Amino acid sequence: MPDNQPLSAEQLTTLDREHLWHPYSSFLTPSPVFPVASAEGVYIQLSDGRKLVDGMASWWSQLHGYNHPVLNAAVQTQLQSMAHVMFGGLTHEPAVRLAQTLIALTPPGLNKVFLADSGSVSVEVALKMAMQYWHSQGQPQKHRFLALRKGYHGDTFGAMSVCDPVTGMHQLFSHTLAQQLFAPEPQCAFDAPWDDSDITELARLLEDHRDELAAVILEPIVQGAGGMRFYSPRYLQRVRELCDQHQVLLIADEIATGFGRTGTLFACEHAGISPDIMCLGKGLTGGYMTLAATLCNDKVSDGICHGEAGVFMHGPTFMGNPLACAVANASIELLLESDWAGRVKAIETQMELELARCRELDAVADVRVLGAIGVVELKEPVDMNQVQPMFVDQGIWVRPFGKLVYVMPPYVISPEELRQLTGGIYRVVEKLSS
Ligand SMILES: *Cc1c(COP(=O)(O)O)cnc(C)c1O
Repeated sequence: MPDNQPLSAEQLTTLDREHLWHPYSSFLTPSPVFPVASAEGVYIQLSDGRKLVDGMASWWSQLHGYNHPVLNAAVQTQLQSMAHVMFGGLTHEPAVRLAQTLIALTPPGLNKVFLADSGSVSVEVALKMAMQYWHSQGQPQKHRFLALRKGYHGDTFGAMSVCDPVTGMHQLFSHTLAQQLFAPEPQCAFDAPWDDSDITELARLLEDHRDELAAVILEPIVQGAGGMRFYSPRYLQRVRELCDQHQVLLIADEIATGFGRTGTLFACEHAGISPDIMCLGKGLTGGYMTLAATLCNDKVSDGICHGEAGVFMHGPTFMGNPLACAVANASIELLLESDWAGRVKAIETQMELELARCRELDAVADVRVLGAIGVVELKEPVDMNQVQPMFVDQGIWVRPFGKLVYVMPPYVISPEELRQLTGGIYRVVEKLSS
């Protein structure tokens, strides 16, 4: 049995290498992992004493920074009454409040909330809702999904089936996955004048396959892990129109874009549309705990409940965890009380200004910024083992992915800290260019 002595940094890395899987990791060619002692505000404090400005917000989730007194207090207060209680047959105030809040904030019509444990599970729930809806309408053959190339929706089996079949990281499993349909990724950039030919192929697929399609699933406005691409709000409006025309549901996966990241509270607002089903996760608890939500409108919930099963067929053990709901409530309150829109705008303006000079570097193919998301797309994929320590040496935490060096810092980042982040990115990419 391990004793209770604190582990040295070296013991940590050695034991970690022996026993722990990290996201997309190998025990044969392990990437460096950096032991963390603590985290505070926008800083990650490594055990070796180095302090890094966090550019990743722990994968989109840290909106207010680490170790926030208000969020800490929310967890502690909730802990006094209960950490968890099953959600079958029981309910509690943190979950009810959260549902009320999400319904009030999300686009009109979304009126029912399923509290799931993680983003991927909320996507599974969304797919199941759409399938059960059509089953209840006497159209069980409408069980396939139309997704976008360059999309990413998670790592579980249903979610994998709607990820980009090439960049979605799941080719290996393709023969076991449900066979879905894919439209080309949108070409029309966020600010570019709309060209209706961008929607032609999706429109054709919808028309040809409307009898077997349950829903279109997409990430509104920002395609995240599958390519970090920003596309025209008009595209989203056209998808909504076409889904209505062909009687196919629309699922908006706002797991990455939700809670202000793109400059609006939810990315669907750029287009003024409401999906039939919406997935939320990542920033939902301000990065404190794993929690996700799948919202749907009354049309979908009525359909499901009038169907053959009569109930929605899903119920995770940790559904509606009170600690997670309590911190989500506190995080959303904190967000709404803050000038989040002004902060996101200021981050956008500063990143546009400061990342622009990366365009001149040889290694760089494109630089783009939307809201509090900055992307430097390289011409060649980076070697993670080489490049990760280079960012750490610059005092910043940036974790590139393939050709994409991207940041989405906590909204509380100061102009000086953001300058350190963009400056560090420039210097690393400059080294990669030489
Ligand atoms: C991260 C992400 C998911 C998966 O969420 P997990 O919590 O990692 O399971 C799904 N969709 C999008 C758009 C995401 O960014």
